[in-house]
Amino acid sequence: MADSEDTYDCETCGARVAAADARRSEPFGDLDPETWQTLDCPDCGARLATVFVGDE
Ligand SMILES: [Zn+2]
Repeated sequence: MADSEDTYDCETCGARVAAADARRSEPFGDLDPETWQTLDCPDCGARLATVFVGDE
């Protein structure tokens, strides 16, 4: 039911990337890397999204 919400379209290379397949890296700026992670395209390395991974 939540499948489509876990997929990101890469604007750089056009790949459709499932969240589980994305590379994860620390976010930029002041965001806490234990609470936020950046999802990167596994094909071209472009940033897809910054997601909240903390639990409160
Ligand atoms: Zn890409």
